[in-house]
Amino acid sequence: KITDESSEIGSEGEIPQPLAGTNVMNVIVVAAECAPWSKTGGLGDVAGSLPKALAKRGHRVMVVAPRYGNYVEPQDTGVRKTFRVDDHDMEVRYFQAYIDGVDFGRLGSAVSSLTVEFEVVGSNSLSTKVGDILKRMILFCKAAVEVPWHVPCGGVCYGDGNLAFIANDWHTSLLPVYLKAYYRDQGLMKYARSVLVIHNIAHQGRGPVDDFSYVDLPEHYTDLFKLYDPIGGDHFNIFAAGLKTADRVVTVSHGYSWELKTSDGGWGLHGIINDNQWKLRGIVNGIDNKDWNPQFDVHLKSDGYTNYSLETLHTGKAQCKAALQKELGLPVRKDVPVIGFIGRLDPQKGVDLIAEAIPWMMGQDVQLIMLGSGRPDLEQMLRNFENQHNDKIRSWVGFSVKTAHRITAGADILLMPSRFEPCGLNQLYAMAYGTVPVVHAVGGLRDTVKPFDPFNETGLGWTFESAESGKLIHALGNCLLTYREYKKSWEGLQQRGMKQDLSWDNAAQQYEEVLLAAKYQW
Ligand code: ADP
Repeated sequence: KITDESSEIGSEGEIPQPLAGTNVMNVIVVAAECAPWSKTGGLGDVAGSLPKALAKRGHRVMVVAPRYGNYVEPQDTGVRKTFRVDDHDMEVRYFQAYIDGVDFGRLGSAVSSLTVEFEVVGSNSLSTKVGDILKRMILFCKAAVEVPWHVPCGGVCYGDGNLAFIANDWHTSLLPVYLKAYYRDQGLMKYARSVLVIHNIAHQGRGPVDDFSYVDLPEHYTDLFKLYDPIGGDHFNIFAAGLKTADRVVTVSHGYSWELKTSDGGWGLHGIINDNQWKLRGIVNGIDNKDWNPQFDVHLKSDGYTNYSLETLHTGKAQCKAALQKELGLPVRKDVPVIGFIGRLDPQKGVDLIAEAIPWMMGQDVQLIMLGSGRPDLEQMLRNFENQHNDKIRSWVGFSVKTAHRITAGADILLMPSRFEPCGLNQLYAMAYGTVPVVHAVGGLRDTVKPFDPFNETGLGWTFESAESGKLIHALGNCLLTYREYKKSWEGLQQRGMKQDLSWDNAAQQYEEVLLAAKYQW
């Protein structure tokens, strides 16, 4: 039975056992980004780690992502296919790699990353002809849906038996539509299913109604894409079409699956979400507990940092904190609470709330370290913070995976005042590193950060109920008080955070249930 009821993450259940026999599926995860090769946010992390967890359960799993650069690992398969986009023939080259040195072959599964390179056949230049993102994603989805036929993995093509695509966000929402229009409607790929995952509903692939002419679909598909919006009127909306067409829809937390059904949280798609809620399920993301594990983290092996675990938390984290302060040129002080922020600089992430709280924060004995990139005015705001409070604030404007890991390890507190947050990974990483989160209680943040209860010594961090700087200050104030005055409680918070099982194992089992529900049309 598929519901969107809450289920605890991090419970100490048994490790799910791999499935066997006919339930083993061929799973193709299609995403616009995939860590470690390409990542702008959580989608890249998920596309890099969920497939491994599904493969560990015995499925044959492949990731298909665009080839944005000359990556070292993926090798040219020699397979070439031509697809038509906007009246031009585009040649696609398929590259392939087995990643992370994990012996999936031993389990009879293969994780491959097939990366696709776009090339225009003829004299038209890439930039003019597939320069805009809509056309690139049309080409990508057309190429991805044919992968199971064209690209041999471990010598054999997947074909359409027991096949399920997992598409992600609007960029790949055309995939379920192409699967239906080009194949299922023609009696082909009868056993192939599609699951669409909503990582962020705010980006939808919107355009004028006439954009339908680019997607190359029969006329009767027009209405699937058409959406009315009180501001823009009728428009073309790719996410809308994908949500209606996919066999199942997943979103990345229980809280967000509820918010999506409301007019505030659904960003105009709430009507469609409500109509299709029978096929919607919230599954909280896991974390890659090899990459994001203080015990093995490769970014903690130099420059004075150190790996640590629950047993060595006290000394290990203190060393990382000192190394972070030293690296960023802040006074190296053990007693001062270090507050971190990591995220895209976008109004979603609530950096304006931090800005409003800065005068109060600067009146406290704290250090604030912020890492982010995105909107130029917000990047400038971060630089101004550092210039104005050089003794207490460091702002790292840019995208640095290494710095993100080091802040997560060296900070005492992680701030996430997001206005909305479908799942949020940074708070999960923080807890795994003994860093205590202070978050706005929305979406996945509400699901994953249980508020601290000083009477029962339970909970994982501080939450505040509305996106206002006063509320943020109140929560952070209580957090700082606990840090300074109640050491035992603080250690309890850190330890509870680190003891959780935040791995992908639970989530992968739930994805598997969704795949099977799609397969058998439960
Ligand atoms: P979102 O997907 O909305 O950006 P998430 O919290 O789900 O937010 O995931 C963000 C991911 O991107 C995390 O892995 C985080 O560490 C990373 N990240 C965000 N901004 C930066 C940055 N400036 N430098 C390095 N990593 C970043």
